[in-house]
Amino acid sequence: MQTSTTPKDAAAVILLRHQTNPNNPEVFLVRRSEKLAFLGGYHAFPGGQSDANDAEARVENCDDTATKTAISCAARELFEETQVLVARGGDALTKGQRQSLFDDLQSGRMSWPALLNHYELHLDANDFTFVGRWVTPPFSARRFDTLFFLVRCPAKQNPQIDADAELESGEWIAASEAVGRWERSEILAVPPVLHALKTLAGGLTDDLVQRFLLTPNAHSEPVRRIEFRPNYICFPTRTPTKPPATHTNCYLIYTSQELLIIDPGSPYEDEQQALAQAVDDLVGEGRNVREIVLTHMHPDHVGGVNTLKKHLGEQTKVAAHKLTAEPLSESVRVDRLIEDGETINLRGSPTISLRAMHTPGHARGHLCFHDERTGTLISGDNIVGLGSVLIEPTEGNMREYLASLRRMRALPNLSVIFGGHGPAIANPYTKLDQYISHRLEREQNILQAVREGAATPQAIVARVYTDVPPKAHAMAEHAVQAHLDKLIDDKLVQTIGPGQFVLAG
Ligand SMILES: [Zn+2]
Repeated sequence: MQTSTTPKDAAAVILLRHQTNPNNPEVFLVRRSEKLAFLGGYHAFPGGQSDANDAEARVENCDDTATKTAISCAARELFEETQVLVARGGDALTKGQRQSLFDDLQSGRMSWPALLNHYELHLDANDFTFVGRWVTPPFSARRFDTLFFLVRCPAKQNPQIDADAELESGEWIAASEAVGRWERSEILAVPPVLHALKTLAGGLTDDLVQRFLLTPNAHSEPVRRIEFRPNYICFPTRTPTKPPATHTNCYLIYTSQELLIIDPGSPYEDEQQALAQAVDDLVGEGRNVREIVLTHMHPDHVGGVNTLKKHLGEQTKVAAHKLTAEPLSESVRVDRLIEDGETINLRGSPTISLRAMHTPGHARGHLCFHDERTGTLISGDNIVGLGSVLIEPTEGNMREYLASLRRMRALPNLSVIFGGHGPAIANPYTKLDQYISHRLEREQNILQAVREGAATPQAIVARVYTDVPPKAHAMAEHAVQAHLDKLIDDKLVQTIGPGQFVLAG
């Protein structure tokens, strides 16, 4: 079993508007920049990772070192991202003093604890109500162990976002309205943020903290059911996949009447049981399983099909593209073939209509599924939330892959991509553009290497893949081969012997 990355300490602030309506409280919700590699485009609360010297800040009314450090981190991140200063003595500062404190912190002239001292400020744990802890599930490459604090915004301050930095925008919004936006598929948020918003939408009651903490999602146990978007459950299962990924996402898409299962990939018994339980729960609420759908033939996407089918009954259909069914014929029986352009309309509400797109490149029979109403794309391994996509002949084909990426890029109104690995992608067009330009850049570099005399995939890798550790070079040679196949098709490169290449013409 592969090990996941160790979570880093972090803190987040659920900032409540001063004198907000306790029955319908307003919070400060930010949108993360589309450019960020981790959760770019997501809606979130201000917060971030602990700094080495956060622990040195003076925090009154708290005896626990870890909590003190988290409070210091929460206050610093809140200040850095929104310029809201929650510190005792802070009311006495002029606007100008607060600005120079902010500038000093940004420029790194003084550390956060030293700045607090310098301005005779300190933090007080009573201003930071601990409401929950969340550890990023192991399906993500970047993981955080985050403490969430409820904080009231001081009367005379108002958050400001520097749009050039990590955040794109921020606004005061009633928690109930934020939940409404999520329900209407307008925003994407990770489970703890969604959980916090839903809890707050119930009002600032006396048992608020309990309501926060008693929900399993707020604890550090691995989360099995992640609903970035309503009716689309992302269910990561541990699989023997390619590092850095350790999990393959199975998707459970449901309406009031039906359930569609995409890519039950885990060959491990404990994971298969957990998935079967999640499916049983959804079926137990009165749904029928429509069918099991496969995006492509790779083992980490089909490893749990037979067990799940046995569990659900042999009448359960498995559907895939013809070019997925053929290579799988020995191991998995595909009962129904899906063609490009065909739609799967789930019965019941809400309306979910998934249009299949044959998008070869990573695998010959690769299918993506597009829900036009909500701008949702299930991308399989064509786009992933973690690691890079392998294009390995003979299943892989670079020319087809680029064409498939462009076809996905041309879809209108995409708002989320659900990949085969890692968290959902909330910045679909930015991500697609990055994927396309990354491949084109590689192609140019390979062409340049051939021009300079590198004649074999090995020699090309040594020149071009300087950003890749040597142990990954064998894998890179396959990618180079895929690029060379395309360049030969494009008549830019020609073969002069087995494994020997020169520029064409
Ligand atoms: Zn794959």
